[in-house]
Amino acid sequence: MMRRQGREVTLRTAERRQREDEAPRLAVTIPALRGLRLQVLEHSSNIARPEYAHVRHVVVASAPALFVVPCSDKDCKEGGHDLTLEVLAALRRGNLRFEGTDACRGTIGSAGCSRILGYVGVATYQA
Ligand SMILES: [Zn+2]
Repeated sequence: MMRRQGREVTLRTAERRQREDEAPRLAVTIPALRGLRLQVLEHSSNIARPEYAHVRHVVVASAPALFVVPCSDKDCKEGGHDLTLEVLAALRRGNLRFEGTDACRGTIGSAGCSRILGYVGVATYQA
């Protein structure tokens, strides 16, 4: 059981790396973008205050145009948050600040995962 889970995680990490390698570069997709900071707040839907937060400084020159945040619940299967479409849409509009939420669609045992991810992006562009 433990061994099988370990292999699934390794496989998922490899799939994520492959997606990142195959994705277009952020600098090519949004040429005017100079800087991007993404703050991620994650919490269970039944807890009002964020449980878990981190800030990701995106290296625009080398980062893939892919924004996928894994679910922080280690028991969650097939979960995670793909923010790529929302983030790229905001950057294409030239938004300096944008935010949104995304509910995890994964499952924990026989129940749905209730984790909700909130994100705030702060971007800078070429003048
Ligand atoms: Zn989840």
